[in-house]
Amino acid sequence: MEYDVAIVGGGAAGLSCALTLVSAKGRGWTWADERRYLLIDAGGSDLRNALLNNVPGVAIGTPGSELLKRLRSQIDSLGGVDLIKGRVVKILKGDSGFSIETKKGDSFKAKEIVLATGFHGFDIEGLELKVVDNPKSPKPGRIMIEHDGDYLAAEGIWVAGLLAGVSSMFAAAAGTGVQVAINILSKWAGSPVVVHDVPG
Ligand SMILES: Cc1cc2nc3c(=O)[nH]c(=O)nc-3n(C[C@H](O)[C@H](O)[C@H](O)COP(=O)(O)OP(=O)(O)OC[C@H]3O[C@@H](n4cnc5c(N)ncnc54)[C@H](O)[C@@H]3O)c2cc1C
Repeated sequence: MEYDVAIVGGGAAGLSCALTLVSAKGRGWTWADERRYLLIDAGGSDLRNALLNNVPGVAIGTPGSELLKRLRSQIDSLGGVDLIKGRVVKILKGDSGFSIETKKGDSFKAKEIVLATGFHGFDIEGLELKVVDNPKSPKPGRIMIEHDGDYLAAEGIWVAGLLAGVSSMFAAAAGTGVQVAINILSKWAGSPVVVHDVPG
């Protein structure tokens, strides 16, 4: 099966990106309704080690692991994302999109890729991307991938979260995931899009 978007990494940024993408379905937007989404995550989000007292709108004392569960459950409730556990080891660009390989040997195809793998390193083979030091990290050895300022690193390849060079704060990382989703939706729509709901 070919996906429209494959997100690699299911932490703050990857999950927020997936949530925003699926939230565009069922609104009568023909360019959004039939889209297929995949998220592959190795299960090592920094959030697993966090106790959250300063995430906007999230109760003080919430464990980061709980917030991860909530995000996944929000995505499940909306439906439309295949959430897969695995580590992506190679991504190759072909004529009509990308092929993605996991360590276990599974392979997938997607037209667009979102990389949201955090800032501890980047070892996915096959892509010609510029990996540089992450200037927003107080700790040395953290990395990011250079992009055009609007999260596009190469044709069809977006970066989100700490890998896009933002500070290691939940809302900053999640915000870039949301922005990447909106950039992709706007590209499909042919004009700027937001996804809003109102009560009643
Ligand atoms: C101890 C600690 C405490 C913190 N406390 C706070 C706090 O109080 N407030 C706050 O706002 N922020 C806090 N943070 C920061 C917050 O957790 C991060 O900013 C946020 O998780 C970054 O989101 P991300 O999506 O960029 O990366 P992550 O959430 O780290 O997600 C990256 C995901 O990509 C996956 N991945 C990596 N490589 C691959 C691959 N090849 N294939 C598939 N998946 C892959 C990883 O396994 C991981 O699940 C804390 C962080 C730590 C470590």
